[in-house]
Formats: sequence, structure tokens, C-alpha cells
Amino acid sequence: MISAKNNIEHHLLNYEKVQASFSWDEIAKELNGLPDGKGLNIAYEAIDRHAQTHLKDTVALRFIRKDRSFQDINYGELKKQTSKFANVLQKLDVKKGERVFSFAGRIPELYITALGTLKYTAVFCPLFSVFGPEPVFQRLSRGDATVLVTTSLLFDKKIKPLLERLPSLRFIILTDATEHFSEQVMSFAKLMEQASEEFNIPQTNPEDAALLHFTSGTTGMPKGVLHVHQAVLTHYATGKYVLDFHDDDRYWCTADPGWVTGTSYGIITPLLHGVMSIIDEEEFDATRWYSILEEHKISIWYTAPTAIRRLMRLDIKPCEEYHLEALRLILSVGEPLHAEAVIWGQEKFGIPILDNWWQTETGGIMIANYPSMTVKPGSMGKPLPGVTIDIAEINDKELKFITEPNNQGNMVLKKGFPSLFRGYLHEEERYNKCFIGEWYVSGDLAKKDADGYFWFIGRADDIIKTSGHMVGPFEVESTLMRHPAIAEAAVIGKPDPIIGELVKAFVVLKSGIKSDEEIQMDIMGFARKLMGPAVAPKEIEFVENIPKTRSGKILRRLLKARELGLPEGDISTLEQS
Ligand code: ATP
Ligand code: MG
Repeated sequence: MISAKNNIEHHLLNYEKVQASFSWDEIAKELNGLPDGKGLNIAYEAIDRHAQTHLKDTVALRFIRKDRSFQDINYGELKKQTSKFANVLQKLDVKKGERVFSFAGRIPELYITALGTLKYTAVFCPLFSVFGPEPVFQRLSRGDATVLVTTSLLFDKKIKPLLERLPSLRFIILTDATEHFSEQVMSFAKLMEQASEEFNIPQTNPEDAALLHFTSGTTGMPKGVLHVHQAVLTHYATGKYVLDFHDDDRYWCTADPGWVTGTSYGIITPLLHGVMSIIDEEEFDATRWYSILEEHKISIWYTAPTAIRRLMRLDIKPCEEYHLEALRLILSVGEPLHAEAVIWGQEKFGIPILDNWWQTETGGIMIANYPSMTVKPGSMGKPLPGVTIDIAEINDKELKFITEPNNQGNMVLKKGFPSLFRGYLHEEERYNKCFIGEWYVSGDLAKKDADGYFWFIGRADDIIKTSGHMVGPFEVESTLMRHPAIAEAAVIGKPDPIIGELVKAFVVLKSGIKSDEEIQMDIMGFARKLMGPAVAPKEIEFVENIPKTRSGKILRRLLKARELGLPEGDISTLEQS
């Protein structure tokens, strides 16, 4: 058993007990609800209710600038700033439910826009600042953007050429302009300066739309996923049981708000619990990251496998080279976390990295390794109390639940938890197809063991059918990663006339290792020995890097398309290395 270091009493001490007594109504009681029974609003729960308490002067958001100087905004100030932004939307006559987009780096104005928009009951949609003009156009037009908050640089470079094609985009607010340019292109500072810091949050139905998120585009064209204010119950519950927030925690979520993690857990959830949330404007850099953990005394760190893999490649001894005594939890999401990485965390930090699973569609964490629970390295953990998740076969649009442990199937989630998405934007049929009766079909395959832990197999789209076997690429990649020369691996199925598909691996070698026939044979032999000849890759190609989405997910469909000489499809989220 691997146990976490600290003396803090976790909110979830006994999983079975919490699960048995859990109810969403009880969670709702831990939130305030809008005064005078006016409903449930994410921003009110995240900010305004705290601004009336001792938390008023507590730091809510700490922004670390590129030069490492930082700016703090406390709960009292955040209330004022977000109320001002809500008043700006009022002045611009934006209607409830209309969409306010942000397109900027991780700067304070983005966070004020997000929370002010939620207060106003318009819908917030973040875009990742490194998108080029076409992906931005696609999302703004599909998302019917009314307002866009961006920087002058991004506006000049990427938005201006699109304006003619975006007739419903009424206002562009520039975060760094000191003067308004026109009735359409305005200054954020100027609008804010003229706005009152008092705002009365309007009636907010828990079912009112709150957030629009585009998926990562790992399996195809990104989908626009709609969430409602009620999702705040999941945010709150996961902040309590998974992130285990306590009053004095200092928390750092490394995800950009352009992805759902960066909004649900980089903006909303820490604020719901009144903790200090750290935001770094800069991109990944190992030394910078370790020294941020040290300097800002981070206690809870939520990151992704792609970053962890990069850290693992380096010969740094974090706990010897940095003071990381405050760090008590490390969590990961977005992709499978290999058992090696969990164990690496244990060795390097004295705590295992806690994997958790969810999707844009689920709005919040659904399966997790909880701080007080025994971690089985390589497993995603157990379902969030209040959420029912099972493994099923799908035959003719009917579910047949798999009762035998360790048998793989489709991971399905029972409807009825608050943050399940309410639609794919303009794609009703696609949305309806995700449901079979009371169940949402996640599109991921997994298995459940006899102790109730879930193990990720792969995305249904990525599964390789070879000589009558179903092979999940993750399983092969995980095994390959155990070879001492391999830094990264991605596996696809390549059509083959005899065996259906053959398993092909793209491999990045660790620096300094030569990609010759000898190492290829060695890896082949290693893989065969561990996986057997049916599952081990039949082809290995050495590559410099593996194509990934900007949120760090391996783009297997792109590797496959390139391998087969087919069109690359939507590559708007491809990370340019
Ligand atoms: P698209 O739906 O556009 O193809 P995407 O599914 O990658 O993109 P997200 O919603 O950002 O978009 O990612 C959710 C998916 O990421 C999950 O369905 C799953 O496949 C993968 N994932 C997330 N966390 C984990 C995890 N802990 N282990 C394994 N896979 C994970
Ligand atoms: Mg998906």
C-alpha cells in the first residue's frame, strides 16, 4: 500500500462509507444558493458568498507573470472586479445565455471575464490562445459568439481578418487597450473603469447554460459541449473528496482554461472551497515548475501525464534540489497515467501521483484515486460517490452489463449527476446517440477489477483488432515504456490483409540512444517477452516526437492517417513542436 504524506485529515477517509451516505442534496446544502431563493449560480458560490466572510482578504487568485513577479487578487477584490464585468455586459446589452468568448493567455482579465460572465448568466467559452485564425473562426462561428475578450496582439494577428465572416460578433474587448477604437472594438480597462462594482446576480436556474467547452479533438472535429450552473455541485464535491481542499491549501492547476480542466479546476473549484489558486502565465519548463512549487509553497498540484512524462525524462531529484515540504497531493488527468509514473511520484516526492478520469462531457472528475485510498498504480481509481459507472457490452443499441471482474467493455455512466453535459452544440443527433436509456456511453473502454477499481483500456475508436484479439494501444504503450531506452511510445493498428490490423509502434528514444537495428531488435524482443507475439508490435518506427493535442493527448488518428497516406482531418488542436 502506498500512502500519502501529511497530517491532514482527509475529507474522504472511508470510500465505502462516503459512497453509501452520499447524496447530491446534501452537497447542495454545503453551498449557499443565491439569496432570496433566486437559484444557483457558479460565480456566487465561487466568489460572492466568500467575500462576505473572513475570506474577504484571503488571496483567491495569484498570477505569476512570465518574469516571475506576481499579482494577487483576494476574494473581496474578485467580487468587485467580476461584478464590474457583469455590469459591462449589461451596458453592452448582452442577453442572458448569449456567448462570451475569451481568447488570451492566462492573464487576470480572462478569469474576470469568465466569472463575470457566469455572474451575468451569459455563457462563457474559453479559447486556447495559441489557436490559429481558422480554429478560432470555427469556434467563434459555431459558438455564435456575441462578445470576445482578447489582447491587441491576438486581435491584430488573428481576429481582424475574420471579422467580415463573423457578423454576429457584436463586441471585441481588448484587455490591454487604453482607449476604445470604435463602437465594436473597445478597451477592457475603460469599460471596467466606468462600471459599478455592485451587481445584483439575477435569478439563475440550476439548468441555465453556463459554459461552452470545445473538446480536445483527439478523435476528430472538436465538439462544443454545453454545461449548466448546476455542474457546480460536481465541482464542489470533487474539490472536497478528490482534491481534498482544506483552508490553508495553496493549489496549482497547470491546465489552460482553453481546456475544460483549466476552467472546472483552474478557475471554479478552488474558489468554491475558498483556497488560494496559483496561475502561471508561462508554458511548461521543468526548472520553473519545480521552483514555483517551492516558492509558492504549493500543497496540491493538479497536472497531466504529458508534463509528468517530461519531468520523468530529466535527471532531477525534486525533493533534494527543492524545498517541497508543503506538497501533499499530486493529481493527474487527461490521458492514461502509466504505473511507472505513479511509482516515480512515490520515489521522487514520497507520494503517488493520483490519476483521475473524466471528459469534457462529464464536466468534472468522475473516477479518482482518493488521497486516503490504497493506490493501485495504473488504475484510474473508483467512481466519485454519487456517480454510478459500469462496464457494458453494446449490442444492437442495448447494454449488457459485464459482471465478471477484469473483463473489458464500454465505460457507461448513469445519468443523474449534475455536471453531465446538456448538449453538443448544433449536433442534437450526435448528442442523442451518446445515450442508451439511462446511461451515457463515454466512448472509452475499461475494465473493473474485483475491488471496484477501474482500469483504462483505450478509446473505442483506437482499439486494434489483430488476429482475433482486441488490443488497447495504452496497454502496449505502457509496456514499451518499461524498456529503459524508450522515452515515449504511441501505438496504432495498421490494416493488414491477413491479420486484420497489425500493431505498429512509434517510439521516441531517450536522448543519447542511437536508433539502430540492434535497439529495434532489443525492443521487439522485450515486447514479445512481456506481451506475447499476438499483442507485441510487429513494426517499430523511431521518431523524434509524437504528435499530440495542445492539451497533451497522443493523436493516434493523425499517426494512422499519415501512415496510410490519408487526409489528416481536423488538426486545429495539434501542438506544433
Ligand atoms: P475528442 O472528444 O474531441 O476526441 P478528447 O476526448 O480527447 O477529444 P477531452 O474531453 O479533453 O477530449 O478528453 C477526455 C478523454 O481523455 C477521455 O474520454 C479519455 O479518453 C481521456 N482521458 C482523460 N483522463 C484519462 C485518464 N485518467 N486515463 C485515461 N484516459 C483519460
Ligand atoms: Mg472525447
